[in-house]
Amino acid sequence: MKRSRVLAVLVGGVFIVAVMSLNRMLELMQGAGLKQRGETPAGQDLSHLQQKIDRLEHLLSDNNRLVATLRDSLLQRKAPWETGARANVSSDSHANDANLHMSVVYVVVVYQLLDVYDLLPFDNPDGGAWKQGFEIRYQGNEWDEQPLELFLVPHSHNDPGWLKTFDSYYQDQTKHILNNMLIKLSEDSRRKMIWAEISFFSKWWNDIDDQKREIVKRLLRAGQLELVTGGWVMADEANSHYFALLDQLIEGHQWIQRHLGVKPSSGWAVDPFGHSPSMTYLLKGAGLRDMVIQRVHYAVKKHFAKQQTLEFLWRQSWDSSSRSDITCHMMPFYSYDVPHTCGPNPAICCQFDFHRLPGGRVSCPWRIPPQPITEQNVQERALLLLDQYRQKSRLFHSPVLLVSLGDDFRFVESSEWDAQFSNYQKLFDYFDQHPELHVKARFGTLSDYFKALRRRLTAAGTTLPTLRGDFFTYSDRDDHYWSGYFTSRPFYKRLDRTLEATLRATEILFSLTTAEMRRYRGDGHLVADFPAHQHFQRLTTGRRSLALFQHHDGVTGTARDPVVVDYGTRLFHSILNLRQVLQSSAHWLLLLDKSQYHYDQSKPFLKMDDVISAQDALPQKTLLTLSDEPRSLIIFNPTEQLRTSVISIVVDSPDARVVDAQTGQPMTAQISAVWEEPTLASAEDFQLDFVAQLPPLSLVVYHVTKASVGSANRARYTFHRRGNPPTIQTEHFQVSRPEGPDTDAPLSLSNKHVQIWSSSETGLLQKLRLQSGLVRQVQVQFLWYGTTRNRDKSGAYLFLPGEEGLYSSSEPPLVRVSRGPVFSDITSCFRHFTHRVRLYHLEGHAGKSLEISNMVDIRSEVNRELAMRIVSNVASGNRFYSDLNSFQMQQRRTLAKLPLQAHFYPMTSASFLQDETSRVSLLSAQSQAVASLRPGELEVILDRRLQQDDNLGLGQGITDNKLTASLYQLLLEDRRGGAQVRGPNTAPWEIPRYDSQLPKLRPFLPLQSSLPCDVHLLNLRTLEDTQEAGSPSQEVALLLHRKGFDCSSAPEPPLQCSWSAHEEVDTLIYLLYVFLYY
Ligand SMILES: [Zn+2]
Repeated sequence: MKRSRVLAVLVGGVFIVAVMSLNRMLELMQGAGLKQRGETPAGQDLSHLQQKIDRLEHLLSDNNRLVATLRDSLLQRKAPWETGARANVSSDSHANDANLHMSVVYVVVVYQLLDVYDLLPFDNPDGGAWKQGFEIRYQGNEWDEQPLELFLVPHSHNDPGWLKTFDSYYQDQTKHILNNMLIKLSEDSRRKMIWAEISFFSKWWNDIDDQKREIVKRLLRAGQLELVTGGWVMADEANSHYFALLDQLIEGHQWIQRHLGVKPSSGWAVDPFGHSPSMTYLLKGAGLRDMVIQRVHYAVKKHFAKQQTLEFLWRQSWDSSSRSDITCHMMPFYSYDVPHTCGPNPAICCQFDFHRLPGGRVSCPWRIPPQPITEQNVQERALLLLDQYRQKSRLFHSPVLLVSLGDDFRFVESSEWDAQFSNYQKLFDYFDQHPELHVKARFGTLSDYFKALRRRLTAAGTTLPTLRGDFFTYSDRDDHYWSGYFTSRPFYKRLDRTLEATLRATEILFSLTTAEMRRYRGDGHLVADFPAHQHFQRLTTGRRSLALFQHHDGVTGTARDPVVVDYGTRLFHSILNLRQVLQSSAHWLLLLDKSQYHYDQSKPFLKMDDVISAQDALPQKTLLTLSDEPRSLIIFNPTEQLRTSVISIVVDSPDARVVDAQTGQPMTAQISAVWEEPTLASAEDFQLDFVAQLPPLSLVVYHVTKASVGSANRARYTFHRRGNPPTIQTEHFQVSRPEGPDTDAPLSLSNKHVQIWSSSETGLLQKLRLQSGLVRQVQVQFLWYGTTRNRDKSGAYLFLPGEEGLYSSSEPPLVRVSRGPVFSDITSCFRHFTHRVRLYHLEGHAGKSLEISNMVDIRSEVNRELAMRIVSNVASGNRFYSDLNSFQMQQRRTLAKLPLQAHFYPMTSASFLQDETSRVSLLSAQSQAVASLRPGELEVILDRRLQQDDNLGLGQGITDNKLTASLYQLLLEDRRGGAQVRGPNTAPWEIPRYDSQLPKLRPFLPLQSSLPCDVHLLNLRTLEDTQEAGSPSQEVALLLHRKGFDCSSAPEPPLQCSWSAHEEVDTLIYLLYVFLYY
């Protein structure tokens, strides 16, 4: 089946989201807690939920069978607009890929974007007036039967940070735009406007009085104003993790729901630099029916325009039904500004941007200025514009036409409103007075447009074609591929994920804490001393900081330096604030005697194990002073699975002991040196690592004490450096240097799952062998890319590589090998980076992959980019896979007809390549660009330093590089044999029994067992109280993500979780998902 071949390790599945009352949530989450207290044996609550889900799943799976039977019984018929030769059926498409449209009774061919890429020549010929397109012809009688129905949609694109900060844009432009909107829309009920960025809208809302708020509501009710998408920002779709994409959508939608009581139905994403189906999935789930996108490769646009398929149903790659479909309109031309939206000829369209009338600040670069519409010129002007509209209309299947009217930060001044609206109204009036022109034009919103489109399609008995795939990598012209921003400002891309992880953990723990508190008191109230209101404010600010950074000039790394610092400061402060919530929540949960709880912000009961000192600093570990008295360590496992993790702390003694606080059982531990310099070990600080078994969502307590001298397992070190043997300074660790024949032997490390070999000269990985006997060459290399010698050079957005070469250093690197019972690693210290490969000596899955970490510093360089490449002998051909938003995997093809920079794709968290027998996966903790330029190769860009602007408006290079950390897991899998992973191998985690001598701190164990392997707890998000603004309510959104798994590689040993039994999740749960928002 195609499904099993294409889908891979982690494939996006289905969200299950529900709003749950306090009591219901407690029932579900806390079977364990109830049992401990000997109350109602609610331990079966989770299995109760499971049973319910199972039952509902059955219903849907019956449905699916019915649909499949119907589908198979139908002959494939073509939709009327399809021309035979251009059907674009994927060569391996089967009947199950086709979409059944019950209403029209024919099967529509599903377009695959990958096949479009195979088809296109990417030859970039000059298309005339529409440079990247073609000459559009029409007879003039095409609209006689069905008149052209045109909607002109006024908009103002407001970036929440780019050249100016969010606040500066608000003060200087945005608030004036919105204030004028109230006046100008009220003047004439025919005027319309759409607004997308809720971050700005909500800020403005706080500034206006009740009277103005009433006007807003009236305009919304009248359909003159439409809130589109409803996200906090117009999010980047390449670097953003789906947690953050969804969170910013929830934040915006919840705000709209609370203050305006409406729900968005259309999406508007005209500026993100490429588009992802993960976003459409979330939009669909949020109740949107339609969407508009703009930044798509010019050659793809041209192809779609020729086929009249610029409007399509965008479907998820895994979906065999139409359930995830959303109607998508792709703008055909170069940009979303007026010159590129009325029709194919920008020189003409620009004359209809009345903000550029002579005498103003902006003019038309095509040197033909707009003219005010008068009685004398109205006929000539109207016909000139109509010709553009008609040409544009020929690119679409229906005679309904969408034309936008706006640009970045437009409609600031009252005069601009007057110029645009009054001149266009004169043109529209002219059309109305001349029915022989067969055109009905008016101002509209997106909903107006899509409603009309739907009406026409239904009347004609047609549906739109269906498309699967994504729109990366974007190019706006020539060989200008926007693959640079996949990596730009990698420091902040990492900080983004640090905040995201902190926010998720805090949301979950805070929700559990307030629920537990209410139950503890029994009266629905929270514990008096717990600063719930303050904490909820911190959570809200954290959500909004993360949301703001998902803006398409935020996480993309494409804002001016001071704006980057503004974003960084927000992220940094949010992390600090959320940590306070985390600490005081954990404090209350852990206390055996809850009456001892006392909140004092200046003296927190718990301290974090690391400190971040500034927005541009990496975290530093906190030193833990040891004595004979045990120090308590609290570990929170924010995942829904029982997890074996290595916990790393820094202590002041080379002799330390860690025990489980409950059982007194000593943990396997290792003491390693803290290296102040590559060969200088600290005499005061020591790294203590131990293996912790962490139940799902638990807070577990460990005790650390100073141990007798020599009792702890210390790491042993070997140092290698060609030519110039290093001098090693360490008192506490055994150090050796290879001598004689050992000097040139490859370095080797192994655990029970895998053995690795590395070069003794560079320490870089060369080969891997699995326990199964599978051996693969897996070489790590580093390389530089320069920038082109042409006039246009790489910048924040663009990657225009010039010379490339393997990284070499004048001095051979120092290579340090450490060996211990918990982990062993090889560290290579080069001038521009420190690279470490670590192998954990762990049972189960944690020991199967290699951890790779890089600490990169390229501040000394000029116009260079550093890449890490993995060269394997996996016969992957020209195909590899990269993830989209950490939500789904997308196949990529490396094609000779495209330039090198076109082959870099966004990698939010995973990429892999494979052949019949093996798979190499690279998982990452941060977003960056990834490519597979030759068979068996994978490479990621680590940092970029570029001195010049790339002429896309930013007006600067990117030279604010910092010491930047990146983290990966490298996994080799044996695919020989395959396996069934769906066995009922439930191994519930057992609650330890506690003796009567309980310590003061008691572990918090909210789940009786891990959730099923394929169910991810995405979030447990406390909702705002509907009565009391800014306070937590008793309602919590439970967000679950069901994942698809690939069966070609068996988890061995079996995972300690069960699997959901059925293929599809039922529709009832889907309804609950909608319920979350409305
Ligand atoms: Zn923008």
